[in-house]
Parts: sequence; structure tokens; C-alpha cells
Amino acid sequence: MKIVEKALDLLFPRICETCSRPVDRSTGSICSECLMNMPFLPVDGCCRVCSRPVEGYRGEYLCDDCSGRDAPCFDRAVQSARFEGEVRRLVLEYKFRDRVHLAADFAEWIEAAARARLNLAAVDVIVPVPLAFAGRFVRGYSQTELLAHRLSRSISRRMACALKRTGSPARQSTLGERERRKNVVGTFEVVEPALVRGRTVLVVDDIMTTGATLSECARVLKAAGGAARVWCVAIARSARQRPERRGGPGHLPTNGRK
Ligand SMILES: [Zn+2]
Ligand SMILES: [Zn+2]
Repeated sequence: MKIVEKALDLLFPRICETCSRPVDRSTGSICSECLMNMPFLPVDGCCRVCSRPVEGYRGEYLCDDCSGRDAPCFDRAVQSARFEGEVRRLVLEYKFRDRVHLAADFAEWIEAAARARLNLAAVDVIVPVPLAFAGRFVRGYSQTELLAHRLSRSISRRMACALKRTGSPARQSTLGERERRKNVVGTFEVVEPALVRGRTVLVVDDIMTTGATLSECARVLKAAGGAARVWCVAIARSARQRPERRGGPGHLPTNGRK
């Protein structure tokens, strides 16, 4: 930490966003004890494409959503935590109450999750998912752009706002998975194809639910932009609203390593 930052820390201690005690770490707004209690996702025991975890299972597998005809267009999607409890509260504060300083913490979480599962050295360019509503901008950045920007500085890769929304989809939260996929088709376009052509693109979003939005981003980046590979990262993974298909996760290991 720089001397100025150290001095500022002494004068104005950073207060933990979760427990209101002084932050005992050199960066961020969450103390180490609260950090340990965050519902971070395990590296092991999840789908090797979308990272969906299955309780009590070890190793990698391919989940129902990622096998077969409706498989997502991204090559891999990684999330750092479950969208529940304190993570849910913090992400909503970040998204809707302009708690922009949380971007530092979230970018750290995303980077740690991505490092554990992806080869970040292979990433060429970082692309934020553009926001659905133009109003949610703070300090000239959208919240996803702010995350992408921090990540870009920390892994020394270029950030490019290569995607643009061409319209807002109908409300996703009331829709099932298949409808979500249909609903988002045609809502993005690639504005700077030269920046993604032939590249490995890392797409950054805040919350991943079914992955429909990220899959559509990946689809257009590949189809219109000519991206070679699309990996996605998000702060948190929201639990699905519907029950598991075909008898639940118990059968998952059997469709294992194809
Ligand atoms: Zn704390
Ligand atoms: Zn999957």
C-alpha cells in the first residue's frame, strides 16, 4: 500500500460493509472474517461449462443445460459466489444504490474465481455486458463496465465495450429457461468486431441466472464478431427458480466426462 493510502487509512479507516468494523485488509471494503463467511462457490464439483455446483459431488461433469441441443454458446462461465445472503445484499447495493467502491471487492472475487478455473493468460480482451437500462450509470461507467475496467487493469488486458444493446428484452425474471433464451435473441450487437475477431474474449456480468444473457452475448460475439472463444465471468450465480430436470442432480455424474 502506498504511504498516502496508509495515512488515509489511519485517518479514515475503511469500515466493513458487512459488520461495520474497520477493514483489516489492504484493499476492499469487506473484512477478512466477513469474507470467510461469504458463500463462495467451490472450484470442484461443478459443471465444466456453466459451473453449476452439485452439493456433495466431487470432480467435473456436464450438466443437463450444457449438454444437448440447447447448450449455451459460451465456452465456459465462471461465478465467484452464490447470489444469496450477504452477497445478494452487497450486489444489490452495488447495482441499485451506487455503492461503486464495492467494484474493487467484486473484481477481486471474480479474478480469484476465474484464476482457479480459466487460463487468464489466454484472454485477449475483456468485454462488459451492456446494461439493459440506460439510467443505471454512475460516474460515466455502467456497473459491469466498472468491474471489467478493474479486471482489465489487474490482469493487464484491454477492455473493449464491443457489445451494444439493441433493445431491452421483456422482464426475464418471470420467464422459464427456454423463454429466456428466445427473449434475449437479437438484443445485442457487436459494435467493434475488429477488437474481438479471432480472439479469446472474457465477458463480464454481475449476476448469472440461467446464463441466457451471457449465451446470447457469446453467440453474437462469435457470429458477428468472429470471436474464437468466449469465456464469461460474473460476481454471483442466482439459484434457478424451477426444479431440476429429469430427477435432479443425482444422475449428473453418470453423464460425466464426455
Ligand atoms: Zn466484516
Ligand atoms: Zn452446465
